[in-house]
Formats: sequence, structure tokens, C-alpha cells
Amino acid sequence: MTTDDLDRTIADNLARVRERIASAEARYGRPPGSVALLAVSKVHGAERIAAAHRAGQRQFGESYVQEALEKQAVLKALPLSWHFVGRVQTNKTKDIAARFDWVHGLCELKHARRLGAQRPADAAPLKVCIQVNLSGEASKAGVEPEAAETLLDACRNIDGIAVQGLMTLPAPAENLAAQRRPFAALRALRDRLATRDLPLATLSMGMTADLEAAIAEGATMVRVGTAIFGPRPATGAH
Ligand SMILES: *Cc1c(COP(=O)(O)O)cnc(C)c1O
Repeated sequence: MTTDDLDRTIADNLARVRERIASAEARYGRPPGSVALLAVSKVHGAERIAAAHRAGQRQFGESYVQEALEKQAVLKALPLSWHFVGRVQTNKTKDIAARFDWVHGLCELKHARRLGAQRPADAAPLKVCIQVNLSGEASKAGVEPEAAETLLDACRNIDGIAVQGLMTLPAPAENLAAQRRPFAALRALRDRLATRDLPLATLSMGMTADLEAAIAEGATMVRVGTAIFGPRPATGAH
């Protein structure tokens, strides 16, 4: 594909996703612009991220640390915000703390402590969402709902991280009603755990297949890959 073709494809895809978000906001009584779009670019090359940037996208999600660092190096001149949406591994916390603005899948106190301690002193605290397992989670990652409060309380006092809210990644569901169930549960959990000093304003939920259901239930950030960048090439390792 030429750069022009790639630019046009990604700009069209982004426009369609923004339109889906805007119509879901309207349909479900959400204020216009209340749902942020995170473009999940894992496995796709830096040229696709650059094309999305030219189409106005600024926030990108990556799942594999080494791959992300390579793309960040290529794209370092662009003012992008990087979100780690993969599974946090202990031996990768230093790079995550140094090179990302957000972590969406925090599930372990040990990781929270390491990320906080390893966050560079001159950087703003790393924004984190606690991942909750609500529906036989596709990846089996995430804390059980009953354990979320304990992890949240422990994270409050860790310097270098700032808890923004909750995240979930449900198993695929057949229809809108079934898709909405885990998202409604995440929102209810957030409402129960939110306090004045820790409002948990972010609900990171919804992807290509279920973003409308997530917006209906209060998502503030949807994480969309396929609808923007196309199907992910099979890599074996992923
Ligand atoms: C890959 C991924 C996405 C994007 O999924 P699509 O179905 O391609 O939109 C969202 N969230 C997480 C955590 C992911 O790993």
C-alpha cells in the first residue's frame, strides 16, 4: 500500500469508529466527547501509527513491551500518549514505568509497587487502571471483583502511580444484552468503590466488537484495534 492509500484507509477507519462512538453517546444519553478513543496498535507497524496520528489520533495502546519500545523510538518526534494494555510481567515493569503514560491491566500489588518505584522522578505519576475479571475473562487476567478493593486500597499510598479507574476485557458475547452485562458489573463495582479522594473516573472497557455496549454502560475509554488498523497479522508468538 502506498502512504497515500494507507493514510486514506486509516483515516476512513478512524472516522467510522469516531462515528460509532458519537452515535452510541447520543443513543445512550452520554455527553458528546465523553468517551475517549484509545487506538490499540499492537502487532501493527509504526507507519500505521503515523498514519493514525496524521488523522488526528493521539493515544495508542500496545501489548508487547519490546515491540512498543521499537515503535516509540521510530515515532519519538510525534506527541503521542502511550498506554500499556498487555499483561504486566515483573521483568518488564522498568520499561513500562519509563516509557508509558498509562497501564490498563494492573492486577498485582507487586507490579504496582515496582511500577511506582521505577517511575522516573521527573515524570508525572503513571496512570493505572485495575483490571477486573467479570465474565470468565478472555485472557483469565484481572482480579476477582471481591479482591479489587484490597488492591485499590494498597495502591492508594504508592508514590509514582495514580489509580484512574477500572478496566475489563470480557469474553466475546453473542448479543448486545449479553455484552452489556460485564460492563454494567464493572460500573457498579466502580460506583461502590469510588471515594471523594479516589473517584475512579475512568472505565476502560469496550473494543471493536462491543464498544456500543460499553458506552451504554458508562465506558469513558474504549480500546479499539481491528476497526482502525484492520485484522492483526498472525504472528504465532502472540
Ligand atoms: C487487542 C486489544 C484490544 C483491541 O481489540 P480489537 O478487538 O482489535 O478492537 C483492546 N484491549 C486489549 C486489552 C487488547 O489486548
